[in-house]
Amino acid sequence: MRFKFIPIPVRINDQIIADRIINGLIFDIKHFALHDGPGIRTTVFFKGCPLNCWWCQNPESRGSEIEELTINDSSRNRNASISVPETVGRMVSVSGIMEEVEKDRIFYDQSGGGITISGGEPLLQPDFLIELLTACRKEEITTAIDTSGFAEIEILERLFGLVDYYLYDLKLMDEDLHRKNTGVSNQSIIHNLAWLAAEGEKVIVRVPLIPDITDTKENLKAIAHFVKSLESDITVDLLPFNLLAKDKFHRFKLPNKLMKMQTQAPEQIDRMVDYFQTLGIPVTIGG
Ligand code: SF4
Repeated sequence: MRFKFIPIPVRINDQIIADRIINGLIFDIKHFALHDGPGIRTTVFFKGCPLNCWWCQNPESRGSEIEELTINDSSRNRNASISVPETVGRMVSVSGIMEEVEKDRIFYDQSGGGITISGGEPLLQPDFLIELLTACRKEEITTAIDTSGFAEIEILERLFGLVDYYLYDLKLMDEDLHRKNTGVSNQSIIHNLAWLAAEGEKVIVRVPLIPDITDTKENLKAIAHFVKSLESDITVDLLPFNLLAKDKFHRFKLPNKLMKMQTQAPEQIDRMVDYFQTLGIPVTIGG
Protein backbone atom coordinates (compact mmCIF):
# COMPACT_ATOMS: atom_id res chain seq x y z
CA MET A 1 0.00 0.00 0.00
CA ARG A 2 1.32 3.46 -0.89
CA PHE A 3 2.36 5.65 2.03
CA LYS A 4 -0.22 8.34 2.85
CA PHE A 5 1.24 11.79 3.41
CA ILE A 6 -0.03 13.70 6.44
CA PRO A 7 1.81 16.93 7.39
CA ILE A 8 3.39 16.77 10.85
CA PRO A 9 4.16 19.95 12.78
CA VAL A 10 7.75 20.26 14.02
CA ARG A 11 9.05 22.25 16.91
CA ILE A 12 12.56 23.45 16.16
CA ASN A 13 14.83 25.56 18.25
CA ASP A 14 15.06 28.49 15.82
CA GLN A 15 17.50 30.62 17.77
CA ILE A 16 19.94 30.78 14.87
CA ILE A 17 17.47 31.75 12.17
CA ALA A 18 17.02 35.40 13.13
CA ASP A 19 19.17 38.03 11.38
CA ARG A 20 20.56 35.54 8.88
CA ILE A 21 18.97 36.76 5.67
CA ILE A 22 22.29 37.44 3.97
CA ASN A 23 24.91 35.68 6.07
CA GLY A 24 24.91 32.11 7.32
CA LEU A 25 26.76 30.19 9.99
CA ILE A 26 29.07 27.44 8.76
CA PHE A 27 31.92 25.54 10.35
CA ASP A 28 33.84 24.26 7.32
CA ILE A 29 34.12 23.99 3.55
CA LYS A 30 35.64 20.81 2.16
CA HIS A 31 37.00 20.65 -1.38
CA PHE A 32 37.23 17.46 -3.52
CA ALA A 33 34.66 15.54 -1.48
CA LEU A 34 34.00 12.09 -2.99
CA HIS A 35 31.31 10.69 -0.69
CA ASP A 36 28.79 13.51 -0.53
CA GLY A 37 26.83 12.84 -3.72
CA PRO A 38 27.71 12.21 -7.37
CA GLY A 39 31.13 13.18 -8.74
CA ILE A 40 33.66 15.49 -7.12
CA ARG A 41 31.94 17.95 -4.83
CA THR A 42 32.51 20.96 -2.64
CA THR A 43 30.83 20.36 0.70
CA VAL A 44 29.71 23.32 2.78
CA PHE A 45 29.03 22.42 6.41
CA PHE A 46 26.32 24.53 8.02
CA LYS A 47 26.55 24.83 11.79
CA GLY A 48 23.63 24.01 14.06
CA CYS A 49 21.50 20.88 14.31
CA PRO A 50 18.20 20.21 16.11
CA LEU A 51 19.16 16.56 16.63
CA ASN A 52 21.65 15.28 19.13
CA CYS A 53 22.85 11.91 17.81
CA TRP A 54 25.49 10.76 20.24
CA TRP A 55 27.47 9.08 17.41
CA CYS A 56 27.60 12.34 15.38
CA GLN A 57 30.71 12.40 13.17
CA ASN A 58 30.76 16.20 13.32
CA PRO A 59 30.19 17.01 16.99
CA GLU A 60 31.39 20.58 16.41
CA SER A 61 28.44 21.04 14.02
CA ARG A 62 25.69 20.77 16.57
CA GLY A 63 25.82 24.10 18.41
CA SER A 64 23.86 26.88 16.75
CA GLU A 65 26.36 29.63 17.45
CA ILE A 66 30.02 30.49 17.02
CA GLU A 67 31.80 28.69 19.85
CA GLU A 68 35.00 29.62 21.64
CA LEU A 69 36.32 26.27 22.83
CA THR A 70 39.38 24.93 24.55
CA ILE A 71 40.44 21.88 22.59
CA ASN A 72 43.03 19.12 22.87
CA ASP A 73 45.73 19.77 20.28
CA SER A 74 48.12 16.89 19.55
CA SER A 75 49.39 18.22 16.21
CA ARG A 76 52.79 19.19 17.68
CA ASN A 77 53.37 16.08 19.75
CA ARG A 78 51.67 12.79 18.86
CA ASN A 79 52.08 11.43 22.38
CA ALA A 80 50.74 14.38 24.31
CA SER A 81 47.98 16.94 23.92
CA ILE A 82 47.99 20.52 25.01
CA SER A 83 44.90 22.65 25.55
CA VAL A 84 44.55 25.49 23.08
CA PRO A 85 41.71 27.90 22.28
CA GLU A 86 39.82 27.42 19.03
CA THR A 87 36.93 29.27 17.43
CA VAL A 88 34.41 26.92 15.82
CA GLY A 89 32.07 28.45 13.26
CA ARG A 90 32.09 31.57 11.16
CA MET A 91 29.58 33.81 9.47
CA VAL A 92 29.83 33.83 5.68
CA SER A 93 28.00 35.46 2.80
CA VAL A 94 26.61 33.62 -0.21
CA SER A 95 29.16 35.38 -2.42
CA GLY A 96 31.95 34.22 -0.09
CA ILE A 97 30.87 30.61 -0.50
CA MET A 98 30.42 30.99 -4.24
CA GLU A 99 34.02 32.20 -4.54
CA GLU A 100 35.16 28.94 -2.94
CA VAL A 101 32.80 26.87 -5.05
CA GLU A 102 33.94 28.49 -8.29
CA LYS A 103 37.50 27.27 -7.63
CA ASP A 104 36.26 23.69 -8.08
CA ARG A 105 34.06 24.21 -11.12
CA ILE A 106 36.46 22.44 -13.49
CA PHE A 107 36.13 19.27 -11.39
CA TYR A 108 32.33 19.43 -11.48
CA ASP A 109 32.34 19.62 -15.26
CA GLN A 110 34.55 16.56 -15.58
CA SER A 111 32.95 14.39 -12.88
CA GLY A 112 29.29 15.38 -12.77
CA GLY A 113 29.85 16.89 -9.32
CA GLY A 114 28.69 20.11 -7.71
CA ILE A 115 28.00 21.60 -4.32
CA THR A 116 26.73 19.61 -1.32
CA ILE A 117 25.31 21.46 1.64
CA SER A 118 25.74 19.42 4.78
CA GLY A 119 26.02 20.10 8.47
CA GLY A 120 24.80 20.24 11.05
CA GLU A 121 21.41 20.63 9.50
CA PRO A 122 21.11 22.82 6.38
CA LEU A 123 17.34 23.18 6.79
CA LEU A 124 17.90 25.05 10.05
CA GLN A 125 18.99 28.15 8.10
CA PRO A 126 16.38 28.16 5.34
CA ASP A 127 16.72 31.74 4.11
CA PHE A 128 20.48 31.52 3.73
CA LEU A 129 20.16 28.07 2.21
CA ILE A 130 17.70 29.28 -0.41
CA GLU A 131 19.94 32.21 -1.33
CA LEU A 132 22.89 29.87 -1.75
CA LEU A 133 20.95 27.34 -3.81
CA THR A 134 19.55 30.13 -6.00
CA ALA A 135 23.08 31.42 -6.64
CA CYS A 136 24.12 27.89 -7.64
CA ARG A 137 21.17 27.61 -10.01
CA LYS A 138 22.18 30.88 -11.67
CA GLU A 139 25.71 29.53 -12.13
CA GLU A 140 24.39 26.14 -13.34
CA ILE A 141 26.10 24.27 -10.51
CA THR A 142 24.32 21.08 -9.46
CA THR A 143 23.18 20.99 -5.84
CA ALA A 144 22.76 18.39 -3.13
CA ILE A 145 21.59 18.66 0.46
CA ASP A 146 22.65 16.25 3.17
CA THR A 147 19.81 16.46 5.67
CA SER A 148 18.22 14.72 8.62
CA GLY A 149 14.86 15.77 7.17
CA PHE A 150 13.80 17.21 10.52
CA ALA A 151 12.02 20.40 9.43
CA GLU A 152 8.66 21.97 8.77
CA ILE A 153 7.27 20.80 5.43
CA GLU A 154 7.00 24.46 4.35
CA ILE A 155 10.78 24.67 4.26
CA LEU A 156 11.00 21.77 1.83
CA GLU A 157 8.26 23.36 -0.26
CA ARG A 158 10.36 26.52 -0.53
CA LEU A 159 13.31 24.49 -1.82
CA PHE A 160 11.32 23.05 -4.67
CA GLY A 161 13.27 23.25 -7.94
CA LEU A 162 16.52 24.25 -6.25
CA VAL A 163 17.87 20.84 -5.14
CA ASP A 164 19.13 18.17 -7.53
CA TYR A 165 19.79 15.48 -4.90
CA TYR A 166 18.61 14.95 -1.37
CA LEU A 167 21.01 12.84 0.70
CA TYR A 168 18.42 11.94 3.30
CA ASP A 169 19.59 10.41 6.56
CA LEU A 170 17.14 7.85 7.89
CA LYS A 171 18.28 6.45 11.19
CA LEU A 172 15.54 4.65 13.09
CA MET A 173 11.95 3.78 12.19
CA ASP A 174 10.90 3.15 15.80
CA GLU A 175 9.86 6.48 17.25
CA ASP A 176 10.85 5.73 20.84
CA LEU A 177 14.32 4.57 19.81
CA HIS A 178 14.67 7.61 17.57
CA ARG A 179 13.82 9.93 20.45
CA LYS A 180 16.15 8.07 22.78
CA ASN A 181 19.14 8.20 20.43
CA THR A 182 18.68 11.53 18.63
CA GLY A 183 16.58 13.57 21.05
CA VAL A 184 13.68 14.16 18.62
CA SER A 185 10.70 12.34 17.12
CA ASN A 186 11.07 10.79 13.66
CA GLN A 187 7.53 11.60 12.55
CA SER A 188 8.31 14.70 10.50
CA ILE A 189 11.41 12.98 9.05
CA ILE A 190 9.32 10.07 7.81
CA HIS A 191 6.54 12.25 6.46
CA ASN A 192 8.90 14.70 4.77
CA LEU A 193 10.62 11.82 3.00
CA ALA A 194 7.26 10.56 1.80
CA TRP A 195 6.47 14.04 0.50
CA LEU A 196 9.76 14.30 -1.40
CA ALA A 197 9.14 10.89 -2.96
CA ALA A 198 5.60 11.84 -3.95
CA GLU A 199 6.93 15.03 -5.57
CA GLY A 200 9.40 12.99 -7.63
CA GLU A 201 12.50 14.52 -6.05
CA LYS A 202 15.78 12.62 -6.47
CA VAL A 203 16.44 11.13 -3.04
CA ILE A 204 19.24 8.91 -1.80
CA VAL A 205 18.36 7.52 1.63
CA ARG A 206 21.48 7.18 3.77
CA VAL A 207 21.44 4.85 6.75
CA PRO A 208 24.30 5.21 9.25
CA LEU A 209 24.95 1.69 10.55
CA ILE A 210 25.46 2.17 14.27
CA PRO A 211 26.10 -1.24 15.89
CA ASP A 212 23.07 -2.66 17.72
CA ILE A 213 21.17 0.60 17.29
CA THR A 214 20.44 1.36 13.64
CA ASP A 215 21.97 -1.78 12.11
CA THR A 216 19.49 -4.25 13.61
CA LYS A 217 17.55 -6.58 11.35
CA GLU A 218 14.29 -5.13 12.65
CA ASN A 219 15.24 -1.52 11.90
CA LEU A 220 16.77 -2.16 8.49
CA LYS A 221 13.82 -4.28 7.38
CA ALA A 222 11.44 -1.55 8.57
CA ILE A 223 13.41 1.04 6.55
CA ALA A 224 13.41 -1.23 3.49
CA HIS A 225 9.65 -1.78 3.65
CA PHE A 226 9.02 1.92 4.17
CA VAL A 227 11.18 2.87 1.18
CA LYS A 228 9.41 0.22 -0.90
CA SER A 229 6.02 1.62 0.12
CA LEU A 230 6.97 5.00 -1.37
CA GLU A 231 6.85 3.52 -4.90
CA SER A 232 9.58 5.85 -6.12
CA ASP A 233 13.09 5.49 -7.53
CA ILE A 234 14.75 6.15 -4.17
CA THR A 235 18.09 4.40 -3.74
CA VAL A 236 19.75 3.51 -0.43
CA ASP A 237 23.31 4.01 0.79
CA LEU A 238 24.31 1.92 3.81
CA LEU A 239 27.10 3.67 5.71
CA PRO A 240 29.14 1.14 7.75
CA PHE A 241 30.22 2.27 11.18
CA ASN A 242 33.71 3.78 11.34
CA LEU A 243 35.90 5.39 13.96
CA LEU A 244 36.92 8.40 11.86
CA ALA A 245 35.32 10.75 14.39
CA LYS A 246 37.30 9.45 17.37
CA ASP A 247 40.01 12.08 16.98
CA LYS A 248 37.36 14.77 16.90
CA PHE A 249 35.84 13.56 20.15
CA HIS A 250 39.27 13.73 21.76
CA ARG A 251 39.96 17.12 20.16
CA PHE A 252 36.71 18.62 21.42
CA LYS A 253 36.97 16.92 24.83
CA LEU A 254 33.72 15.03 24.42
CA PRO A 255 32.78 11.68 25.97
CA ASN A 256 33.42 9.03 23.33
CA LYS A 257 31.18 5.97 23.36
CA LEU A 258 32.26 5.16 19.79
CA MET A 259 35.52 3.58 20.89
CA LYS A 260 33.65 0.61 22.36
CA MET A 261 32.14 -0.22 18.97
CA GLN A 262 33.43 -2.14 15.99
CA THR A 263 32.65 -1.79 12.34
CA GLN A 264 30.39 -4.42 10.77
CA ALA A 265 32.00 -7.52 9.22
CA PRO A 266 31.59 -7.96 5.44
CA GLU A 267 29.19 -10.89 5.88
CA GLN A 268 27.00 -8.77 8.17
CA ILE A 269 26.92 -6.02 5.56
CA ASP A 270 25.97 -8.57 2.88
CA ARG A 271 22.98 -9.63 4.97
CA MET A 272 21.93 -6.00 5.41
CA VAL A 273 22.17 -5.39 1.68
CA ASP A 274 19.88 -8.39 1.13
CA TYR A 275 17.06 -6.80 3.14
CA PHE A 276 16.87 -4.09 0.49
CA GLN A 277 17.75 -6.03 -2.63
CA THR A 278 15.08 -8.67 -2.03
CA LEU A 279 12.55 -5.83 -2.26
CA GLY A 280 14.14 -4.54 -5.48
CA ILE A 281 15.67 -1.44 -3.85
CA PRO A 282 19.06 -0.41 -5.30
CA VAL A 283 21.57 -0.28 -2.46
CA THR A 284 25.18 0.89 -2.23
CA ILE A 285 27.73 0.45 0.54
CA GLY A 286 29.20 3.78 1.55
CA GLY A 287 28.17 7.08 -0.01
S1 SF4 B 1 21.53 14.76 12.45
FE1 SF4 B 1 23.62 14.56 11.65
S2 SF4 B 1 24.64 16.49 12.21
FE2 SF4 B 1 22.79 16.35 13.47
S3 SF4 B 1 23.50 15.41 15.41
FE3 SF4 B 1 22.73 13.76 14.06
S4 SF4 B 1 24.54 12.98 12.99
FE4 SF4 B 1 25.07 15.02 13.85
